[in-house]
Amino acid sequence: MTDSSDSPGLRRRDLLARMGAVAATTFAAGAGALPAAAVGSWDIRTDVLVIGSGAAGACAAIEARTAGAEVLVVESLPLFGGSSAMSAGVVYAGGGTALQRAVGVEDSVEEMFRFISGVGGKHPPLEKIRLYCENSSAHFDWLVEQGVRYQPRLSTGMSVPLDGESLYFSGCELAWPARDIARPAPRGHVPAASGMTGGRVLMEALLARVGALGAQLRAGVSGERLVVAADGRVLGVEVSEAGRRLTIQARRGVVLAGGGFIHNREMVRSYAPELYDCSVPWGNVGDQGMGINMGIGAGAAALRMHQGFAIVPLYPPESVLMGIVVNAFGQRFVAEDTYYGVLGDAIAYHQQGRAWLITDRGSEPPVLQDNFLSVAEGNTIGDLAVQLDFPRGALQDTVAYYNRHARNTEDPLFRKRASLLRPLQGPPYRAWDLSVDKAFFPAHTFGGLHTGLDGEVINSFGEVIPGLYAAGRNSAGLPGAPYIASGLSVGDATFFGRRAGRAAGAVA
Ligand SMILES: Cc1cc2nc3c(=O)[nH]c(=O)nc-3n(C[C@H](O)[C@H](O)[C@H](O)COP(=O)(O)OP(=O)(O)OC[C@H]3O[C@@H](n4cnc5c(N)ncnc54)[C@H](O)[C@@H]3O)c2cc1C
Repeated sequence: MTDSSDSPGLRRRDLLARMGAVAATTFAAGAGALPAAAVGSWDIRTDVLVIGSGAAGACAAIEARTAGAEVLVVESLPLFGGSSAMSAGVVYAGGGTALQRAVGVEDSVEEMFRFISGVGGKHPPLEKIRLYCENSSAHFDWLVEQGVRYQPRLSTGMSVPLDGESLYFSGCELAWPARDIARPAPRGHVPAASGMTGGRVLMEALLARVGALGAQLRAGVSGERLVVAADGRVLGVEVSEAGRRLTIQARRGVVLAGGGFIHNREMVRSYAPELYDCSVPWGNVGDQGMGINMGIGAGAAALRMHQGFAIVPLYPPESVLMGIVVNAFGQRFVAEDTYYGVLGDAIAYHQQGRAWLITDRGSEPPVLQDNFLSVAEGNTIGDLAVQLDFPRGALQDTVAYYNRHARNTEDPLFRKRASLLRPLQGPPYRAWDLSVDKAFFPAHTFGGLHTGLDGEVINSFGEVIPGLYAAGRNSAGLPGAPYIASGLSVGDATFFGRRAGRAAGAVA
């Protein structure tokens, strides 16, 4: 990397003057592409420039460096790690990983593929899913080689293990219809950590590796616009650092790894109004969609921008799932024992953001929880129905039907698992508001740039934009709606981040 100190950073005003009119951009100031002709001389030079220091960026940097490229990672915030470092660090892996084998879990690539492709939404290309599944076991080994530690212990709970276990059922594998589509296996791989600090542990290891390999990391530098040649090739990036505009040449390629856009409220409102209504934007403050807008500014296509992770954390404890969840018509609409990402998706996208958990004496949430609040209470189900203003008789019919079958451990509609299925049987009955704007209802985005198997960014005509790669939540990857398992986002970011970095680094 070369720092040409004799070349003062071009100020935006100067650039605009030299360019003439610049096309209006999408939402973020600075998006749109900068013609290479407007760049006098580069302020900094490197082979591969990575925008963003989360899981996708770190993995891209490691692979690009391993391929022999000079690598610079720039991060807009003062701290490295992104949302990945805030996360639980769960990576969705399977097909017989070393950890699965160590705890006696049987799994196969085919079952994992069946789960992701058959249970999840239709949109992620099957070839991406296939590639991910076929290489999942080797990818897990690679994470271990980078220094991420795991404990060979299996948790049987439905939530991220808090006692150091490293493997659990992180998705809806055991719920219907998933369990009929693919043989269930626990695939949530969690770094050995206490509490919810798995993401920090993961990112500490990956970022240490980035540094050890000799890649440069620079905080407080924000990618603003791609610099594009007349033939459409991406040559570098215009960045801002402490109020100064600088241009960085990327001789082999630029990897956009700037995360999602949940904190760019204008973008969320326009692209993903269902997520806009959710009560908690979930992610680090750098999730401004800048990478996505930079790509769009250079002609990239963006896919599935309305999709995201809308979560209603009903459990733990799992005993609340013995209650039922109903919509504004007083009707059930989903298996309550599914993964809370699937439940959240059903509420946010398919029930206009409104739902209630109905509990009896034995299924009440613990007194101290405040994820959602009790909004009706009574000695009969009818009492609740009146207070909630449901259509007359609807909730009573729902509960009568549910109870009649639950007595025989049957749930003809949604096949709730037997261990959580019993009739609602005794007062006090309560209704808890699970609506997206009333409950603790975190959300983050999944939409991003259209990419190929190696992270190459694709334009609206299906053509690859030379010199440009994207990964993680800057790309439209494996996570979609509904989000069927924790770990698909960090799994996708690490796996496809590596591929993007390797492809960019290998360009001669
Ligand atoms: C509390 C929480 C828990 C979660 N747990 C899990 C989990 O266990 N498993 C899972 O799969 N998913 C989880 N997720 C989701 C997951 O963390 C993210 O989807 C994933 O980490 C995104 O990775 P990334 O590398 O694409 O982006 P990030 O990790 O967000 O990294 C992007 C980085 O780019 C920087 N950046 C942005 N724009 C620019 C710019 N213009 N110039 C320079 N830098 C820029 C950002 O500041 C950020 O540091 C969780 C999310 C949250 C909030």
